[in-house]
Amino acid sequence: MRKLSVLGSTGSIGTQTLEVARNNPGDFEVVALSCGRNVNVLAEQIIEFTPKIASVADDESLAALKQILFEKSYKGKTELICGPEASSVVATVDEADTVLGAIVGVAGLKPTYDAILKGKDIALANKETLVAGGEVIMPLVKEQGVELLPVDSEHCAIWQCLWGEKRENLDRILITASGGPFRGWTRQQLAEVTVEKALNHPTWKMGGKITIDSSTMMNKGLEVIEAGHLFGVSVDQVDVVVHPQSVIHSMIRLRDGSVLAQMGKPSMILPIMVALYYPERGPRLLEEFDPFDAACNNLTFEKCDTNVFRLLDLAYSAGRKGGLLPAVMNAANEVAVYAFLDGRIAFLDIERIVYEVCEKFDLMSHKQNMSIDIILEADRDARKIAEELMN
Ligand code: NDP
Repeated sequence: MRKLSVLGSTGSIGTQTLEVARNNPGDFEVVALSCGRNVNVLAEQIIEFTPKIASVADDESLAALKQILFEKSYKGKTELICGPEASSVVATVDEADTVLGAIVGVAGLKPTYDAILKGKDIALANKETLVAGGEVIMPLVKEQGVELLPVDSEHCAIWQCLWGEKRENLDRILITASGGPFRGWTRQQLAEVTVEKALNHPTWKMGGKITIDSSTMMNKGLEVIEAGHLFGVSVDQVDVVVHPQSVIHSMIRLRDGSVLAQMGKPSMILPIMVALYYPERGPRLLEEFDPFDAACNNLTFEKCDTNVFRLLDLAYSAGRKGGLLPAVMNAANEVAVYAFLDGRIAFLDIERIVYEVCEKFDLMSHKQNMSIDIILEADRDARKIAEELMN
């Protein structure tokens, strides 16, 4: 039985993880939950799973959570905490052996780092953790001898294709991308994009931030860097293949030219289960994959137009340079995406701000021997520059 601490439990991945746990009570015990401010959903989760500990972002959310649990006559002994370190406390709780990392953004980095230090296995959806902190996280995973289990669907697909293969046989990773809602659009059309249109993803239902990242193709850029860290390859060994049907979740090419693919419905339930049941296989929760389904009638593959979606090129270049640049790019992107969602900037301003922050950021002013603190300092500084550019 895995004893789970779920970080970001109220989000898209968090709630699907709890669905897996709910349907397989003999295989999982949910011992800890953490979220930001969605206290209504968290309260329901606490009542259902009676964890040892649960956290929210701030005092106000904590007071609201306590009030809801009081009104619902909750009698469990869950410890309730809040504050900037609260997710780390939830991630390192003694009772958990596995942490499911589904906080959105770089906010997931420190709790993940602390959990690895405490010897927890990590099932990781939170790609920003590896983009910003991969150079620190990956050696620590090795040093601590813990498992880092990829939940991001493309990485879970690549990982499964690699099971039983010698790493030296891996030639290239072919990471698939739906292309997002604006595939085939021109720059002129992108200039007119509204929040509503950008949130309308053609194949995946996800949280707001990743949905916007998918519409700018930054999500794929983040995933290329994530794949580099997870599978020990340079970003130049990772090709992006736009595959609008989202049936093939990714492929690998081996030394002899063989190409292996993992296929399935566009649902995160399966990658979550693959990670949490590893090295076993869990029961089937989803409707069977049907190769005669209309989605499989016409599987197509194309290149991403990086003259239109310029953030993908920037991500390759940041991944190539490494150091603090991916963290800086990620921070600028987070700020710009939320500003777009808040109606403060236009769609193409996301790209402009991320490029400008990467250009303006003085990498040399930060010490180059990487540590979590240095990465988080660079993250804060990059956010400041991004805010200044918007004001
Ligand atoms: P959501 O926006 O749906 O959920 C984010 C979760 O993080 C919520 O529970 C939110 O809490 C919590 N959260 C946000 N900030 C903090 C904070 N400072 N401290 C603690 N908790 C916080 O995101 P998704 O589930 O879509 O994505 C989560 C991660 O997984 C992202 O990194 C994403 O890129 C990755 N991912 C997601 C996929 C998907 O299908 N959704 C697919 C592959 C990867 P609250 O809402 O209560 O404020």
